[in-house]
Amino acid sequence: MVDRPPEFDAIVIGAGMGGIYALHKLRNELGLDVRAFDRAAGIGGTWWWNRYPGAKSDSEGLVYRFSFDKDTIAEPVGDNRYIDQADMQAYLESVVDKFGLREHIQLDTSIDSMVFDEVQGTWTVTTGEGESHTARFVVTALGPLSAVYVPDIKGRDSFRGRLVHTAAWPADLSIEGKRVGVVGTGSTGTQFICAAAKTVDRLTVFQRTAQYCVPNGNRPFTEEEKAEYRANHQDVWAEVWTSYVGGGFRESQVAAMSVSEEERRRIFQAAWDKGNAFRFMLETFSDIARDPAANEAAGEFIRSKIKEIVKDPETARKLMPSGYYARRPVSNEDYYEVFNQDNVSLVSLKETPIREITPNGVLTEDGVEHELDVLVFATGFDAFDGTYRQMDIRGRGGVTIQEHWKDGSGSYLGMSCHRFPNMFMVFGPCTVFSNLPPGIETQVDWFAGLIKTALDDGKSWIEATEDAERTWTTTCDQIAEHSLFSKVDSFINGGNIPGKKKRLQFYVAGLAAYRKKLEEVMGAGYEGFVLDAPAESQDRQMA
Ligand code: FAD
Ligand code: NAP
Repeated sequence: MVDRPPEFDAIVIGAGMGGIYALHKLRNELGLDVRAFDRAAGIGGTWWWNRYPGAKSDSEGLVYRFSFDKDTIAEPVGDNRYIDQADMQAYLESVVDKFGLREHIQLDTSIDSMVFDEVQGTWTVTTGEGESHTARFVVTALGPLSAVYVPDIKGRDSFRGRLVHTAAWPADLSIEGKRVGVVGTGSTGTQFICAAAKTVDRLTVFQRTAQYCVPNGNRPFTEEEKAEYRANHQDVWAEVWTSYVGGGFRESQVAAMSVSEEERRRIFQAAWDKGNAFRFMLETFSDIARDPAANEAAGEFIRSKIKEIVKDPETARKLMPSGYYARRPVSNEDYYEVFNQDNVSLVSLKETPIREITPNGVLTEDGVEHELDVLVFATGFDAFDGTYRQMDIRGRGGVTIQEHWKDGSGSYLGMSCHRFPNMFMVFGPCTVFSNLPPGIETQVDWFAGLIKTALDDGKSWIEATEDAERTWTTTCDQIAEHSLFSKVDSFINGGNIPGKKKRLQFYVAGLAAYRKKLEEVMGAGYEGFVLDAPAESQDRQMA
């Protein structure tokens, strides 16, 4: 029996793009009483935390933003093809102010636990300071890439210089004129390397796995391009919603091996000249992420470019990637060119592993001590479920999220878990594979619709069934089997974290297919969810 009304209708955890949009949607459109919390000192999530030199989007900037604000949608964010961190931060601040959200966001507040009260049908969330709040619904917009991963390398704490992770970049840290080392050559490491090489005294790159990187073609928009986007933005967005990854272009339907070698090279070269990793992987041919031969053709093209660009043959050899080109694709401004600079050197950790971090720098197995003022960890994230597993989340029957996910993390539709009623995840495990902002808007719009339907019908308990969660997770696994993304260790499948159970964390069928599935589920009366009044739910559990 519900006798104590909760303090809020909904609590949103996280004030990145997901949390901001969920707060707006539930508060301004559904009229609910909502409070958001973030452990950060500012709003923006990813764009608040990742202030390292060179941080920017690598999705096309025109579609890496919210689409819901029809007053501003026709105006590009920032001046360049990709959005710099500072422009993204300013944009998100402007959204928060325009929609009156700021006063409803409590910053500097970590939520350490979330416990579901089955009698009241409410969640109690408790901050790190021990302050508790109750709400009917909780949106966990914790960020798929927000639990920082710092490898435990011997001697790490002995370093006397500055040791930083890129996703916790200190505001007071300047690397200009310094001796800087960087561990990691993923999207973050390569962005950092390109930017840092311009200003540091010496840059030492500690590379474990050589990276497939293509140019991003970044440059300022011309006035003509801006005018064209203003005139055609509706078409651009129509394409986003109906395409495979919502990246602002139409993916190829042509198999790589169906054309001649000469034609393949011509298409790869055109994509290389235009720039953008997603275009290179998906706009060139339809099967690079699926067919080993197509994948090898793309990989071989990139290797041939490395040979052309990098002057020192020994450095070129170390930079040469092998194996499938099947991690989240990376693009950058002149990545391989950087290694022609006199102030940049490359250490291949496969050949000379790190023995230990010393007070002066990094000692490698060849006995060389690389002396450093700053050591940067661009070592990524414990992605998707990492932030959840750091918290004490207890659902129905007191089950913890760690117990629920003991055989690997799953969900229903990337948003819900059985036994965790009224909890809606933004980009939780088994989520849509897409450019994130349209994926985020898709999810928030959809679960807001589900909440509204339930409330209009006098129901306030929404729970995914066990069968729905199992079936969705299995479907994701089955589709993943056909993707080369599942064959290479990376954050996408948990293979980047030692000891983590591997599962490709995406519904790799993509955005258009995902939206179609959501429509079908809604059309079938939110199939796979049980909508109840709390008391009815208790009866159901006792039955
Ligand atoms: P986040 O922005 O990560 O926000 C989550 C928030 O939750 C954080 O502020 C965190 O502090 C807070 N939080 C977590 N746990 C708690 C807790 N227990 N208590 C309180 N607060 C908590 N994606 C693309 O599609 N294209 C790109 O070009 C792209 N570029 C990227 C560049 C960088 C450098 C990085 C790191 C990621 C990039 N991404 C990109 C992915 C990016 O994370 C998403 O696009 C998007 O910003 C995610 O938004 P979010 O709100 O879901 O999560
Ligand atoms: P990442 O892709 O997981 O890369 C981490 C890097 O650290 C890899 O090179 C990895 O090497 C290395 N590493 C990890 N542990 C190591 C160890 N013990 N010793 C040596 N090297 C180690 O992480 P990320 O670069 O932060 O990118 C994560 C995701 O964030 C991206 O894929 C993207 O989705 C998003 N992002 C986007 C952009 C953008 O361009 N817009 C920028 C940054 C981030 P191995 O490869 O050998 O594991």
